[in-house]
Amino acid sequence: MVKKKPVDSEEALLDEPTGLQEDEEYESTVRPPEPYDEHGKLATFSLMRIQEDERQFRWGFGKNNNIYFQVQFEIQGGEYDLRRISGLLGTTPSTFRKGTASDDFLHACGANLTPHTNRQYKDAIEATFGPFEATLDWELYCPNEPRPNNPDKTGLTVLRGYNKFPMAQDGHTRKHEVECPECGEFLTGKAIIRRFIIPRD
Ligand SMILES: [Zn+2]
Repeated sequence: MVKKKPVDSEEALLDEPTGLQEDEEYESTVRPPEPYDEHGKLATFSLMRIQEDERQFRWGFGKNNNIYFQVQFEIQGGEYDLRRISGLLGTTPSTFRKGTASDDFLHACGANLTPHTNRQYKDAIEATFGPFEATLDWELYCPNEPRPNNPDKTGLTVLRGYNKFPMAQDGHTRKHEVECPECGEFLTGKAIIRRFIIPRD
């Protein structure tokens, strides 16, 4: 049996570091952009991919060894100017459409190319910033929930879609800070890209 480590006295714990450490800046929680305009129609946002340091362009390999990208976008202009949105761009074609989120991003930016290898995707995405247009949505991610396909790992989207968030007191917008429906922890909803808009010529 593993012996439990004795709990430090509260007095000793008071001097332990917590919160933000040096070199980190406080960021307040921000309300994600409302995805609908005042007429109840899905709003279109102009965005750019941003890459000021390597944390804003991460990549890895998912199912079938297909490359994916974790990127950052920034809203250009309007009420939510410079608001940042994280994005995940995969390269696995869907079963019902010949295209991937990475292709959508490239084509939304006006690039007329279709990469065929992981390296071609990496080179193309890394060189492409936009601007481009997209519609947004909200989702709620809980770091505590086990993943169904990998129960050793945690982190799951527990609410998907603006209309699944509870109504705010004003009766027409939605609350963005809500309890996780699974574990009850208070979480902050975030904006995601719902659909890239591909320009037609
Ligand atoms: Zn939870």
